[in-house]
Amino acid sequence: MIEVSNISKKVITAEGTLSILQKINLSLVSGESLAIVGPSGSGKSTLLGILAGLDLPTAGSVSLAGQDITAMDEEGRAAVRAETVGFVFQSFHLLPGLTALENVALPLELQSDKEALKTAAYYLQRVGLEHRTTHYPRQLSGGEQQRVAVARAFACRPTILFADEPTGNLDTGTGEKISDLLFDLNKEEGTTLVLVTHEHNLAARCGQRLVLAAGRQVVESPIKKKVPGKKAAVEKKVAPDTKLKAKPKAKPQTEPEAKPKAKAQGSKS
Ligand code: ADP
Ligand code: MG
Repeated sequence: MIEVSNISKKVITAEGTLSILQKINLSLVSGESLAIVGPSGSGKSTLLGILAGLDLPTAGSVSLAGQDITAMDEEGRAAVRAETVGFVFQSFHLLPGLTALENVALPLELQSDKEALKTAAYYLQRVGLEHRTTHYPRQLSGGEQQRVAVARAFACRPTILFADEPTGNLDTGTGEKISDLLFDLNKEEGTTLVLVTHEHNLAARCGQRLVLAAGRQVVESPIKKKVPGKKAAVEKKVAPDTKLKAKPKAKPQTEPEAKPKAKAQGSKS
C-alpha cells in the first residue's frame, strides 16, 4: 500500500542547505497502521506531507497503492490524493465561512455526492459533535475544530488516512475517543493509518513505529529481558527498517454498523 525507498529532503535556506530527512525507508501493507514518532523538529510533518503526496522529496521514491507519486507531475499527484488520501492537518485547515457540517460536507459535494450532508452529519456524530453542526469554526474550541477536521477526513472514506498529531489539541478523554475512532475506521473499512503522534498510547496501538531523530530513521535497540539463570538475553532483534509487527492486522468486519454510503462513485481501491 505504501512503499518508501530512500527518501531524503533538503531545502535551501539563507544559511545554506538544510537536510530535513535522510534516507527513510518503510513498507506498509493495506489496512496496517504506522506511528511516526520523534522529538519536535525531527522531520515528522515533512515526512507525512511527502508520504501523502503534498510535498516532494529531493531523492528517493514514494509509491501509494501501487502508483509512484514521486514520478508524477502535480496534476497526477492531485488525482491520486483525491482518489486515495485523507489528511488531518496539525492546524485543522477549516474554512471559517462554513459551518461544521458544511466543512465536513464540502469535499463530498466537490465529488458531486448527493448524500454529502447526510454523510457529514453521520461523521460529526461519530466524533461526538452532533450538537455543533451549525457552529462556525470560530465558535468551536481547538479540540472541537480538530474533531471537525477528523470527521471531514473520515467522511471521504480514504484508502489511506494521514493525520498529523490528531489528538495533539485534545484532553485525554476526547483524545481517546478520536483514537478509538481512528482504529474503528481502520477495522471497519480497512483504512491504512499513518499517524504522527506524541501520545504513547496512540503510538502503541499502531502495528509499526517509525522513530525519527534529526531527520534520520532510528533503529530501536533490542529489548533486554532478564531470564532466570542467564545473565541477560536479547528478547527479539528488531529489523533495521522499522518492521515492528506488534499486532495482527485487523480484519474488516463484514457487517459494520449502519451508515450512509459516503461516495457516489466507488473510488476506493
Ligand atoms: P516535526 O513535525 O517533527 O516537528 P518538521 O517536519 O515540521 O518537524 O520540521 C523539521 C525541521 O525542518 C525543522 O527544523 C523545521 O524548521 C525545518 N523545516 C521544515 N520545512 C522547512 C522549509 N520549507 N524550509 C526550511 N526549514 C524547514
Ligand atoms: Mg510537526
